[in-house]
Amino acid sequence: IIITTMVIFWLLSIMASLYLAAWTRRPVVAAFERQKSFVENASHELRTPLAILQNRLELLFQNPNATILDESENISESLQEVRNMRLLTSNLLNLARRDSGIKIEPEETGLPFFKSLFANYEMLAENAGKQFSGQVDLDENIMLDQALTKQLMTILFDNALKYTDDDGEVKISVQKLNNQLNIIVSDNGEGISDQDKKKVFDRFYRVDKARTRQKGGLGLGLSLAKQIVDAYKGKVSVEDNHPKGTRFNIRLRLEK
Ligand code: ADP
Repeated sequence: IIITTMVIFWLLSIMASLYLAAWTRRPVVAAFERQKSFVENASHELRTPLAILQNRLELLFQNPNATILDESENISESLQEVRNMRLLTSNLLNLARRDSGIKIEPEETGLPFFKSLFANYEMLAENAGKQFSGQVDLDENIMLDQALTKQLMTILFDNALKYTDDDGEVKISVQKLNNQLNIIVSDNGEGISDQDKKKVFDRFYRVDKARTRQKGGLGLGLSLAKQIVDAYKGKVSVEDNHPKGTRFNIRLRLEK
């Protein structure tokens, strides 16, 4: 009985240590898997515009007598693919830099920061034939990383503009509540289904790949936005806007 108990005990301790070893390695394995799928996705995303570009350029060479005007469609499509790739590579670079840790560098910020940002958004919305309204409720200056906040709000603004129709309306409201900054970005566009709401913050996730690609979407904006919010130890959520569209709620924890 003693020997059997000892053997069982010994076997149990081996199993426990094996389990412990696997469990402690889990974060390393998960990080490796994440990295691997990131590289796979990035390569895939680069392959598509490169294939289109190659195709378009080959078409250009098929007819040596054609003028630039004759080939204008091929040329402008090629240019669009080059723009897509430029955007993708700069987003990838941003994400890679962010992966090594975002450092929040707060500076004293007041109304003028938001006002000038909103003036830019108003211009961009007007150029796109859409409406924009911005509202700030701030009774005192706050400590904010202006570059990161601008990047965060611009990602959401760009999306709101991108995914609304011609009569689209984008609203941003900023409000300080205790030691939090609440930012709401809403639009009256096509909206996001409940199923997709869970995935839109994943890297490279696009609800409708073909459609968003046309709009220049690469599925990286919201994952970058989430990283910025995480660095702030804040929260970002997405819900339906009523009667139509999407609403992103952000809460940033402010430093005293
Ligand atoms: P993308 O660069 O493709 O816009 P994002 O990460 O910013 O990438 O967004 C992921 C996907 O979420 C988009 O492709 C789009 O399908 C959806 N999405 C994001 N914002 C909105 C919005 N305001 N309205 C509708 N769909 C949206």
